[in-house]
Amino acid sequence: MIQVSFESQLPRHAAKWVSEAIGRDRVPLETESTCNACAMCVSTPKGDGRALRVFNPATKCCAFIPSLPNFLVGMALNSGAGLASEARRALDERLGRPIAVSPAGIINTRLGAWVYENVEFGTSQALRCPHYLEASGQCGIHRYRNAICSTYFCKPVRASNGRIFWDAVRDFLIAVEDTLIKTCIVRLGLGDAAVHRICSVRGGRDGKFSGAEMDGEVDHEQYRQMWGVWCGREREFFSKSGTLVEQMPWSEIERLGGMHLEVRRIALLYAYQRHDEVTVPTHLRRGRYNVLQVAGECVTIGSHAPSLNTIEVTAALLESLEAFEKMPAMEALVSINRDGERLSADKLLQLVDMGVLTPSV
Ligand code: SF4
Ligand code: SF4
Repeated sequence: MIQVSFESQLPRHAAKWVSEAIGRDRVPLETESTCNACAMCVSTPKGDGRALRVFNPATKCCAFIPSLPNFLVGMALNSGAGLASEARRALDERLGRPIAVSPAGIINTRLGAWVYENVEFGTSQALRCPHYLEASGQCGIHRYRNAICSTYFCKPVRASNGRIFWDAVRDFLIAVEDTLIKTCIVRLGLGDAAVHRICSVRGGRDGKFSGAEMDGEVDHEQYRQMWGVWCGREREFFSKSGTLVEQMPWSEIERLGGMHLEVRRIALLYAYQRHDEVTVPTHLRRGRYNVLQVAGECVTIGSHAPSLNTIEVTAALLESLEAFEKMPAMEALVSINRDGERLSADKLLQLVDMGVLTPSV
């Protein structure tokens, strides 16, 4: 595995927060999530097993409408020529839809969230993210993408182990985002009435959609209350939010986030340490996995959860994994190779990372 800095995997602001929070700056390069030639859009020959899951090449994994925290909207607006014209147009279009614009940032609508939960992910072009650049297949706001987008690697090099690590990074960054969204709202003086309004409308997804909501219409009185003294100056509010956060040292963010952020930081540190370990446990047993495809002797198996990694093994090797139930891991490895199957130490680690073999206590 090639080790790189967080900055080569995450937007610069997020990389800085993560490395300062846990005092580490090395992470494996995610070589399997090959976004330019999307690893999830590769067509595969038909076998007699279950179909391998693939995404629509017109969307890849950018098949949802991401919320953008107020300060990230501001950083993007403040970037000037740093944003391509097509990317700026998409941002302007989202800012031009009051139903999805709040002092918290550009948000997904209730309807958008409902559709996301009820459509198979990565399949529908209709759900393509507005920031996706069709011509290049790239993200138009790559440097300003949110915690969810930044930490999604469909096939982490450490498979399920990697997915758990990146989920911990995501949850930590979401806690940072929540802290900073609120900090901007309070420090930029939105006013009591506006804060109360925001707290009451950021609720769940229950209740029927009204006709006006379906048509994307906003209640202008509620919108005015929500924006308080900044109503009509929304872009300026976002721009100032971006500047405020860009100037904020990590020590201040940590203080503002309090115990809520500290819990996420500790969880991230533990996840980092587990992710960094490359030793195979002394005792293993067979875990859960999905057989995706069988083509002759070759079996393609996938992680049971939570990553989308796959690995090809022979049917005989898959059967031989039974040896791990009967003896310590290293003895089982020797025994399997002695019996004529080829199981290298690297492949064994891959099987462990995917959960095909799991620690036995
Ligand atoms: S992370 Fe997304 S774009 Fe990149 S390879 Fe995976 S599915 Fe494709
Ligand atoms: S913001 Fe960028 S990374 Fe996120 S879904 Fe949209 S195009 Fe993809």
